[in-house]
Amino acid sequence: MTDVVIIGGGIAGMSACAQLAPYVKVVLLEAEPELCYHSSGRSAATFIEDYGNRVTKELNKASLTFLKSESQGFLKKRGLLLLGRKGEEAQFQSDSEDLGLKYISADEAFKFIPALNRESITRQAYRPDVYDIDTNKLYEHYRKSALENGAQIRKKTKLKSAYQKNKKWEIESSDGDISASALINAAGAWADKVAEFCGVSKLNIRPFKRSIARMRAPTGINVQNWPMIDGVGETWYAKPDAGSLIISPADKELVDPHDAWADDKTLAAGVESFQGVINAPIDRMLSNWAGLRSFAPDGNLVIGPDKNNPSFFWFAGQGGYGFQTASAASQLLSDLFLERKVSVESETLLALLPDRF
Ligand SMILES: Cc1cc2nc3c(=O)[nH]c(=O)nc-3n(C[C@H](O)[C@H](O)[C@H](O)COP(=O)(O)OP(=O)(O)OC[C@H]3O[C@@H](n4cnc5c(N)ncnc54)[C@H](O)[C@@H]3O)c2cc1C
Repeated sequence: MTDVVIIGGGIAGMSACAQLAPYVKVVLLEAEPELCYHSSGRSAATFIEDYGNRVTKELNKASLTFLKSESQGFLKKRGLLLLGRKGEEAQFQSDSEDLGLKYISADEAFKFIPALNRESITRQAYRPDVYDIDTNKLYEHYRKSALENGAQIRKKTKLKSAYQKNKKWEIESSDGDISASALINAAGAWADKVAEFCGVSKLNIRPFKRSIARMRAPTGINVQNWPMIDGVGETWYAKPDAGSLIISPADKELVDPHDAWADDKTLAAGVESFQGVINAPIDRMLSNWAGLRSFAPDGNLVIGPDKNNPSFFWFAGQGGYGFQTASAASQLLSDLFLERKVSVESETLLALLPDRF
């Protein structure tokens, strides 16, 4: 019999799988024919230590040492430039404080991005220690480590239902039945649905759609070393990616879990915001996509055993931080699962455990 079945082959499920595989017999089920097909294949791949609420920031910080480990090289320095326009002063100040940015002069900002439209910007703030995450490398690191330690990864295998009998979970999947001592719900936007399939009360993990357009860089301009650019109030952002620019309108549309796609009007709003601060025309969309960022009602991740079903673990609500928190979050999940001492403060632990609801 399997010790634990993990539902979901995104960064959450795979990082949990890698952390647990050296100690217990693990099977990971992914409904799609490919791994990383949903949110984890659609992120902006950024690490901002002070992005998210207090509890998320703790997880970001705790993940940084691993992400920076030289032998792995998961991070590449990018920097973050916040641009404010007339009338946005109060929000600019609160964003700068929240994200740990320092005010810089227009001349300094211009050095980073010579194509800035100086007339439209009234304030600039910057932080150098913001990174691009090599999300493929990070995911592959966890996948390889899971396989090396004997985990089984089953694609195209959807959990359809599960029930408990004689202290075991009897799981019906689209590819046959499986018995396990415990279940870990890492199903992203489908976390509540998976709970329901298992007869466990849902926690109101709600998916919000976010879109990204990949635009051809302005002709004759090398954008590769530009920092990430944020509009105030998380209304849009842009960053260089493989020679082009990815631009997000930072949309937050509450949706049902589904295979998300971007609509033209939403993408156009992001491009227009970007175009308002940059003096060079960007006119050609190369591709676009959307993904789901799933949040618990208080915005914290949900990590640990269900309050009524201790052999059903939640690893959900990764929101817009699933990659930057993955190391510390999966460490905590495995410490709780293996009943080891946890390395987060007790206040943080209480804010993450499912029984806070
Ligand atoms: C546009 C966008 C930008 C983002 N930018 C960043 C960023 O810069 N930095 C960052 O850290 N994070 C970012 N994120 C957030 C990050 O992508 C997510 O937090 C993370 O990918 C969530 O991972 P997950 O494994 O929980 O979900 P997913 O990757 O969605 O994985 C869940 C998996 O569960 C599977 N599943 C569901 N139901 C079942 C079932 N019944 N049986 C079997 N399998 C099932 C699904 O098929 C899916 O593959 C961004 C997200 C979006 C959408």
